Parts: sequence; C-alpha cells; structure tokens
Amino acid sequence: MHALGALDLRFARESLSELAMESEPAILSLAQSELQDWFAEKGESRYRSEQVLRWIYRKRVERFDQMRNLPESLRASLETSFALRSLQCVRQTGSKDTTRKFLFSLPDQNLVESVLIPASPALYGSSSDRRTLCISTQVGCAYGCKFCASGLNGWTRDLRAGEIVEQIIQVEAITGEKINNLVFMGMGEPLANFSNVMRAIEIINAPWGIGIGARHITVSTSGLVPRIRQLAEHPLQVRLAISLHGATDTVRNQIMPINRKYNLASLIEACVYFTEKKKQRLTFEYILIESVNDQIEQAIALGALAVRLKAKVNLIPYNRVEGLSWKRPSFSRQHVLDPAR
Ligand code: SF4
Repeated sequence: MHALGALDLRFARESLSELAMESEPAILSLAQSELQDWFAEKGESRYRSEQVLRWIYRKRVERFDQMRNLPESLRASLETSFALRSLQCVRQTGSKDTTRKFLFSLPDQNLVESVLIPASPALYGSSSDRRTLCISTQVGCAYGCKFCASGLNGWTRDLRAGEIVEQIIQVEAITGEKINNLVFMGMGEPLANFSNVMRAIEIINAPWGIGIGARHITVSTSGLVPRIRQLAEHPLQVRLAISLHGATDTVRNQIMPINRKYNLASLIEACVYFTEKKKQRLTFEYILIESVNDQIEQAIALGALAVRLKAKVNLIPYNRVEGLSWKRPSFSRQHVLDPAR
C-alpha cells in the first residue's frame, strides 16, 4: 500500500474538469444471475445474458452498440440502463520492463491508481509470464497509517465492484498483456470495503468473468480482525497478506492506528483462524522504516510470529512519500535484517 501521493491527486484533478458525471450503474458490477434477472424482466431468455457477458469479458467491447448479435432495441436498452466503461486513464508512467503505474479518473473526478508489476527473474526465472496487477479499492483511506500516502487526505469513498473489476480490463486493454496475478494492495483498505471487494473478486474469478484463479488473488489488510474472520468463511480460496509493519504492539501503535482497536494478539488469533480454516499460508508485509521498525528485536519478534504461523515475510524498504519524514534504512541495515538481500 499505497503509492498515490497528494501532489499526484492535485495535478491530475486539474486536467479533469470536463469529465462528465456518470449516472447509470456499471454493468461490470453485476453477477451473471443479476444480468439474467434483468433480461428475464424484459421477457428475454437467459441466453441473452451469456451473449452480453461474452462481449464484455471475452471480446472486451467498449460500447453496447458493438454487441452485433443483439437486436438493436436491446442494445439501446442496455445503453440507457448501464455504463460499460467508467474509468479513464489520465496518466501512465514506467515501461514494459519496470513497474508501470496507471492513474485512472472516476466519473466523479476522483482518482485511483493501479500498478502493473513484472515478474522478478530472481524469484520466478527469466521466462516467467507472471504479471501482477496491484489494484485500488477505495478513494483515499480512513486508517491513517503514518507512513502511507493513501491515508494523507483521509477517506473519500468506497469503489464500487465494477470500478475494481474495470481496473484489470483497462490495464489489459492499454498494455495488451494478460494479468494472471492480482493483489488488493493499492489505495484503500480492502476489507473496509468488504461487500464491493468480495463481489468484485467473484466476478474476477468467475469463468464467465475475467477468470483469474482464486489462488492468484491476494487481499491485504492492515488488520481488520472481524473481516479477516469473515474472509476465512468465504468459500473462495483467496490468499491473505497482513500489512504488519511492526512485530510488537508498541511499534504498531506508533505507526498504525488500527492496532489500538485490534491489537497484535487479536490480529494473530484471527490469522491463525484464517490459516486453519483455509489450509493455506499467509504473508506478512513489512515495510522497513529507519529507526521505527528496523531494530534487531523487531526482526526476532517478526521471525517468531512468522514461524508460529508458517507465514511468508515480504520485507519492503520504505519508499519516501513527499510530506512525510520517514526514511528507508541503509542498505547494510536492510542486509542485517534480511540476509537474503
Ligand atoms: S490501511 Fe494504512 S497502509 Fe493501507 S491504504 Fe490505508 S493508510 Fe495506507
């Protein structure tokens, strides 16, 4: 989490004044059964919904009038009832071999970012076709982690399911590349927008939808304990990453206000529940911040938590955020904490 800074937001808003507000609901938010119901109300067969879903998710048309095997009256009816595209890419940075960032404007002129991350040859080999997209789930964030750009301006609104799904469709259209791995680690706390995120995941996973396997979808959280338990009950085998960033209550309280509501013990208990229920390993994300969480004692405590949960640990040197004073530790310090570096 979460790279979109306040300056980026201001810069892009200035160029968006002419964008119209969208009023129709996004068809990308709908489950197959809901589209079937919509057609049934119009006296149409369920086959129509299959045709429409094929146009949307297989052929990736951008307008209803491109759905050539539908009668004109139905296309017109779809057009007045739904929006097929809601996001507009207003800026891209990076290149094919590096991390690429896509800044999207929403119909209400708010902005969110998606980040395409190529496979690391060191981890996956030089021939890996793994393409990971990191997507956003909210405009801003209410959780106010002290090191994070996304929380700087607070929370504005939750993304709707279609706005989450469309980030994948847009990035695939822009790059011509197929996304086969998804991480919910962009702007926002995914589990705070639980119903929209779960609806989006069902559409992303569905064979009639985008078709990404549940085990290739990772949801991250800063520690919303009741929602972790709720996710554990969900039948899809999505993966879980915990944005830990501190291995004791003292450190987490200092940088992550959520820890005052759900302390480390209750978070770890929920993690145990998740791993036992899902029979899978989770990941601890740990951003290394100089003199905050980079002490040997933190490394030892982190190691103990990871061993207890058989968790993977992902150590990430801090990326500076304009307006914040936190720094990444020196390379040698990172090396002491993680000899693999
Ligand atoms: S939960 Fe914390 S780290 Fe995640 S987006 Fe919100 S403020 Fe940032």
